[in-house]
Amino acid sequence: MIKAENIHKRFGDLEVLKGVGLHINKGEVVSIVGASGAGKTTLLQILGTLERMSGNGKGRLLINDVNIELLNPKKLARFRNKHIGFIFQFHQLLPEFTAVENVCIPAYIAGTSRKEAEKKARELLDFLGLSHRYDHKPKELSGGEQQRVAVARALINNPDIIFADEPSGNLDSESAENLHRLFFRLRDEYQQTFVIITHNEDLADMADRKLVMVDGNIV
Ligand code: ATP
Repeated sequence: MIKAENIHKRFGDLEVLKGVGLHINKGEVVSIVGASGAGKTTLLQILGTLERMSGNGKGRLLINDVNIELLNPKKLARFRNKHIGFIFQFHQLLPEFTAVENVCIPAYIAGTSRKEAEKKARELLDFLGLSHRYDHKPKELSGGEQQRVAVARALINNPDIIFADEPSGNLDSESAENLHRLFFRLRDEYQQTFVIITHNEDLADMADRKLVMVDGNIV
């Protein structure tokens, strides 16, 4: 599903990733842990195709057997929107939009009709226990509810892989635990693959595999 080899990333003189390699299989939940500045977010951004690796000709990233480096920006955006979902610590919901409208955004970008997108958004919100919150705006929702709306938004195009960067970093412990359980439920029901950066030890240990990053490498 994801095969990364020899991934390097530099920001000016700073070498942040120093030849990372990893394989992640379909349906795996993988956690990434490590000290601040180890390069976790940078790695996730590259695996999630949001950022390009530094080009030394040796690095490779294959997702679903597609060589990401060979895609032009338009094809890359289409690939990302179809196969990948993102969940961030700060959910980045649009404040003027309702829960359903926020969830629909990636579907609209993918060309789904409004009727179909809204139907799917409601199904997802039902699945996530938010049937009573369709028309609420983010400020009318609790932190845990907002994060579940962000999860629904990440899922609307049925991505194969979800990348999450500190998804429960901003939640109280009960909401965090519910969110973590949800990831495993989704994996069990839909065989979705999760790659999750977390400082939450429970979540890191619940994962099928825990990758530890130290100074730009997985050790
Ligand atoms: P944290 O746990 O604090 O989020 P992290 O392990 O996710 O840390 P990264 O965010 O990947 O670490 O950052 C790794 C290093 O790269 C840091 O020293 C950071 O300052 C630097 N860095 C990240 N993005 C950029 C950028 N766009 N330009 C310059 N330096 C950057």
